[in-house]
Amino acid sequence: MAITTLTDLINAGLTLDSAAALAPVTDQFRLRITAEMAQTTEGVARQFVPTLNELLIRAEELVDPIGDRVHEPTEGLTHRYPDRVILHATQTCEVYCRFCFRRETVGATGHLPEAALQKAIDYIAATPAVWEVILTGGDPMTLSPRRLASLIDRLAAIPHVEVIRFHTRVPVVAPDRITDALIEALKTRPAVYVVVHSNHPAELTQAACAALARLANAGIPLLSQSVLLKGVNDDAAVLEALFRTLTRNRVKPYYLHHADLAKGTSHFRTTIAEGQALMATLRGRLSGICLPTYVMDIPGGYGKVPIGPNYLSAQSMDYLVEDPNGNRHAYNDLT
Ligand SMILES: *Cc1c(COP(=O)(O)O)cnc(C)c1O
Ligand code: SF4
Repeated sequence: MAITTLTDLINAGLTLDSAAALAPVTDQFRLRITAEMAQTTEGVARQFVPTLNELLIRAEELVDPIGDRVHEPTEGLTHRYPDRVILHATQTCEVYCRFCFRRETVGATGHLPEAALQKAIDYIAATPAVWEVILTGGDPMTLSPRRLASLIDRLAAIPHVEVIRFHTRVPVVAPDRITDALIEALKTRPAVYVVVHSNHPAELTQAACAALARLANAGIPLLSQSVLLKGVNDDAAVLEALFRTLTRNRVKPYYLHHADLAKGTSHFRTTIAEGQALMATLRGRLSGICLPTYVMDIPGGYGKVPIGPNYLSAQSMDYLVEDPNGNRHAYNDLT
């Protein structure tokens, strides 16, 4: 059974700040931990167990840190880069991560209503530049295989959509959901890529690795994205184990995200300098196929860019970050 209340957490024996003091945290940001993740290590649990630190909202933290809403041509769709859109088909997840940059919206509304979904699909069909549709959320793999198959069919009917990409935590946090029916739904004409979100090697349980193998054996290319999190994986040995375990399971590490400026998440953020030092250490140690690109989503919706080591100029703690259009944006590294 998944943990969804503070009482469930206490019953599961997880270490917790005072439950009474935590009520305002869980009122604001939803709680959910799958049974699989509740049974792993404390480092893993830290991503999902609410703490009083979340009540500290810093001035630089934003409701929509990466600017999804800045580029929303129609409800549930983000179109920031010409060749790809993000479709938020659902706001539901199997776990709610305390650091999530969409923490103000995930869990709130469930599926995108049919009328809005149809409008989003109409927009994609009317925009030939859209080559790739990225399904994220929420977590698109919380949709039933029947609903997913129908969504994929509707996207497949648009000739210029060549790639459908899933961003999901399901294979890791709820591996039993990777059923034959789900895999059948993914074997289709627009090439399907699955980007698995995983932050700690202990998340990759036997059941999770078996789910990854089912996907890889079906011919589905697998990539991963991770978030650099203080107290969870800001350690070269932990990241090394994570990236080696992913690669061994036929998952190519794609992105390591600098933690976004989501509300109440400053306790999870490292500095950029710390992230660069970790990447520099790993480059010296790991096979190139194990190494992701360290990226930041520039606050305000300006785009995702590699942040080094190398791509930044800095004076003291004031960074200038160059976006894909060559524009420079200030980033004050306050942590
Ligand atoms: C991250 C993101 C993408 C995907 O970017 P890639 O670099 O292709 O992985 C697309 N659209 C938006 C709005 C994003 O935030
Ligand atoms: S969208 Fe992803 S990161 Fe955010 S709560 Fe859901 S699973 Fe976690």
